[in-house]
Amino acid sequence: MKKILLNTLLSLSMGVASAAHFGYDGEHSPEHWGDLHPDFAACKTGKFQSPIDITDSIEVKTHKALNFSYPGNADTIVNNGHTIQVNFQKDDGVLNFENKQFKLLQIHFHTPSEYTFNGEHFPMVGHIVHQADDGQLLVVAVMFQEGEENPVIADIWKNAPKKANQNKAMKKVAVQKLVENFNAYYRLEGSLTTPPCTEGVMWIIGKEPVTASKAQMETFTKIIGKNNRPVQKANGRAVIMSQ
Ligand SMILES: [Zn+2]
Repeated sequence: MKKILLNTLLSLSMGVASAAHFGYDGEHSPEHWGDLHPDFAACKTGKFQSPIDITDSIEVKTHKALNFSYPGNADTIVNNGHTIQVNFQKDDGVLNFENKQFKLLQIHFHTPSEYTFNGEHFPMVGHIVHQADDGQLLVVAVMFQEGEENPVIADIWKNAPKKANQNKAMKKVAVQKLVENFNAYYRLEGSLTTPPCTEGVMWIIGKEPVTASKAQMETFTKIIGKNNRPVQKANGRAVIMSQ
C-alpha cells in the first residue's frame, strides 16, 4: 500500500506520469483508463472510485475544524497536459485534521468540477493534495463559481506554461486565500481521479464555492481543455456532512 502511494506521490509531484497516455476524449478517455495499463486497473475494478455525485449525506453535529497552514512557498508550476499544477516545497504547508498532520504537496485544477452536488457541476474546482507521513492521501476540493476575478488564480495562470510537459520555477502562491472561508464540507472515502485511480484517498469537499471570473475559467479550458473524470458509482459509500 505504502509503495503504491509513494509511486503515486512521485507521479503527482513530477506532474508527468511516465506510463500514462491517458486523456479525456477519444481512445484514451476515462472509460478506457482501466485498460490502458496494468497499473491503471483500479480505474475499472475499484469500488470506491472518485468523483461521485453527492446527493444524500449524513450530517454530523460536532464540526471537525480544518486547520490550514499554508505559507505558500511554491517550488514549480507544471503543465502536464492534464492540468495546471503548482508543487509546493517539501514540509511547507500543513493541514491538521483529526489529530493527524497532512503535508501540502500540490494544487491543481479541473474544469468543470469533478464531484457534483445533486447532479450539478461547478464550472471549476481546485484540488489541494496532501499526504501524511504514513502515506495517507487527503485531497481538499475547493469549488469555484463564476464571479469576481480571483487574484490567486490570476497569479497561477500568469505563470502557467502554455504548452504540455513544461514546468518552471515558482516562488509564492497565496493558496491560503483559497481556504480562508472554508467551513462546511462533505467528507468521504475515494480515489485519485486520474490514473492509476488509487483508492484509500480521503476527500474533503467544500460546500461553499469561491469565485473566479468567466475569463479565468476560459483561460484554463483554452490551455488544458475539459479535464473532469465523469462521476463514478457510489456503491453505498457513506458521505458525511460537517457544518
Ligand atoms: Zn484533481
